[in-house]
Amino acid sequence: MELQGSCHCGKVSFSVTSHTPAPFMRCYCSICRKCQGGGGYAINIMGQHKTLKVNGREHVRYYRALRDKETNELCGNIRYFCSECGSHLYAYNESYSDFVYPMACAIDTPLPELSHEDVYCIMLNDKSKANWAIVPPSKHTFQEYPDVSLEEWHKKHNQYIN
Ligand SMILES: [Zn+2]
Ligand SMILES: [Zn+2]
Repeated sequence: MELQGSCHCGKVSFSVTSHTPAPFMRCYCSICRKCQGGGGYAINIMGQHKTLKVNGREHVRYYRALRDKETNELCGNIRYFCSECGSHLYAYNESYSDFVYPMACAIDTPLPELSHEDVYCIMLNDKSKANWAIVPPSKHTFQEYPDVSLEEWHKKHNQYIN
C-alpha cells in the first residue's frame, strides 16, 4: 500500500510503498524517547526505500545519534526531521538500505489498528526505558531487541500486504 506522510507545518510531505504498515513495535530506548517519543517510546513502520518520494526536501534535516559516548559508536539509524517544525519523519539505516522506517506519527494514511496483545515493547532495560513510561499489558516485552523482524511479524499476523 502507498503511505502518505507529512510534518506538522506542512513544508515536508512524503509517500512510500509499504508491505509492513502495522504500527506494532514500540521502542523505549533513550534515543527514540528524546528524538520523538513523547510517550516514552517511538513507533517506526517500514517502507521500500526506492519508492520514497519527498516534497520539500530542502526543509529536511537529519540527525545521527551517538549510541555510546565511551566508544563514540554511532547509532545505525539516521533520523530525518522537518527543520521548520521539528516533526520526526522517518529513519534510514545503511545496513538495511532496501528500507526506510517512517514514524507512525508522521503518517496520514489510516494504519491498521492493533490490540494491546499485539504490541511489542522493546528496549525495556533500566538503562533505556524511562521509569515513568508505561508499558501496555503485552505478552511481547523485550529487555533489548525483539525476536521477530518487522517483516516476519507482518507475515505471521496476516498483516503483510503485497
Ligand atoms: Zn514541518
Ligand atoms: Zn529506539
